[in-house]
Amino acid sequence: MGVRVKFKDEGEDKRPYNGYKPRRFVVSLKTRFQIFQRDNFKCVYCGATPPDTLLHLDHRVAVANGGTNDWENLVTACAECNLGKGTEDVDP
Ligand SMILES: [Zn+2]
Repeated sequence: MGVRVKFKDEGEDKRPYNGYKPRRFVVSLKTRFQIFQRDNFKCVYCGATPPDTLLHLDHRVAVANGGTNDWENLVTACAECNLGKGTEDVDP
């Protein structure tokens, strides 16, 4: 019930992810929305749009590989593309 928004890490988390395994996805709702908006609410890989698919935020360079939560590193991806990618980097 109600909206449970709990994004304590709103904003910058510019820590370089060295070594340890980050499972956190520290992107604020606002940033998510802005990325989606920038990408026209469309998966950048296959072009899928809601409601056909669920949009995720994807790291071009996986966080596990040192990717950041910068705009440049974040793209809109559908659930399928996002989940299929794993931690592999995408060739530009
Ligand atoms: Zn896709």
